[in-house]
Amino acid sequence: MRGANTYLGSIGTTIFTVMSALATEHKSINLGQGFPDTDGPEDVVQAAADALRDGRNQYPPMPGVPELRQAVAAANRRFYRLDVDWASEVTVTSGATEAITACLMAVLDPGDEVVLIEPLYDTYVPVVRMLGAIPRIVRLAPPAWELPRAALKAAFGPKTKAILINSPMNPCGKVFSAEELDFLADLVLRHDSYAICDEVYEHLIFDGKRHIPLMTLPGMRDRTMRIGSAGKTFSLTGWKVGYITAAANLTPLVQKAHQNLTFTTAPNLQRAVAVGLGKDDSYFASLSTNLQARRDQMAVGLAEIGFDVLPTNGSYFITTDFTPLRFNGDDVAFCRHITEHAGVTAIPVSAFYDEPDAPRHYARFAFCKRPEVLDEALTRLKKHFGERR
Ligand code: PMP
Ligand code: GLN
Repeated sequence: MRGANTYLGSIGTTIFTVMSALATEHKSINLGQGFPDTDGPEDVVQAAADALRDGRNQYPPMPGVPELRQAVAAANRRFYRLDVDWASEVTVTSGATEAITACLMAVLDPGDEVVLIEPLYDTYVPVVRMLGAIPRIVRLAPPAWELPRAALKAAFGPKTKAILINSPMNPCGKVFSAEELDFLADLVLRHDSYAICDEVYEHLIFDGKRHIPLMTLPGMRDRTMRIGSAGKTFSLTGWKVGYITAAANLTPLVQKAHQNLTFTTAPNLQRAVAVGLGKDDSYFASLSTNLQARRDQMAVGLAEIGFDVLPTNGSYFITTDFTPLRFNGDDVAFCRHITEHAGVTAIPVSAFYDEPDAPRHYARFAFCKRPEVLDEALTRLKKHFGERR
């Protein structure tokens, strides 16, 4: 039979699916794919259950239910002092994954260039390519993951239509500073382009750092699409509810992309997420505090085993250099090895690179798990590597 889509035929199954399947097969503790092992807030789950029973189970409005769009606008105001008109500037999507695609679709024409920053989330490059646009990738260097300013300047050119950034950043936990955001905003403005901001970890941030949406910087309000995810903010990753805040000039295009992708998202989940976004400040603060304690637990435990642990200021993830453990193989082999032989699963960081010369000695561990589960994972790794040396 003749070949179907050439590009999709050339790419593999996402690393998150591959490693989760391997974890299940070997009954290992899955610190690979990033999902919490407890449900989110009881009142939010109850609101979703209640909403199933009150007769509003048909197609919700294409841009999202008013309650949730109003809640997204209110959250923008509460957390970032952004004045947002819920009716013309907010769109609800089926997860941030759809939101990323919808935003890219909203601004890109075939042949346009998009600046991306490696390490990057694994849907960015495939979507850009499927739209016929061209990724221009710049790379952050570990362990500091500083913005490579000269490379960024060089990546922007007359064909640049947009930059896609992710802060706090998966997998490295980098939180972009005000100064770095200033630098990026300046490039965006100079090149008359757009910014797509994947801010799914906006409320998972440590060490007193502050999340600053690029959208709040001078000149960026009308050029930025800001993406959030209820999955991360309410520890309910399976719900797949995302939201996009974008100015009234961009939102109609975002919504035309959304209407052709999924059209809408389960109404009970949307209404429950609206309840979640209305929770008081202490909920959002404790999300970070709890997670920071688990980051510390993993950072200390992994260092004791001999990993070189890189700093992480946000997200679910901690990146480690396993070179000191003298494992004979690359990161893919290492993650497979610990799944099969230590009973703990991690993600090879090379999966977050598009180009073949990616670093191959880092493994990412998710710490969004119960402390006793993290303890058991550390005990297993300690036993395994202790026995090897
Ligand atoms: N962006 C980043 C950086 C992520 O880590 C994830 C992980 N889920 C997503 C987007 C997708 O979010 P969602 O599950 O809401 O689609
Ligand atoms: N964002 C999650 C991670 O980085 C995975 C999401 C997915 O599996 N699609 O682990």
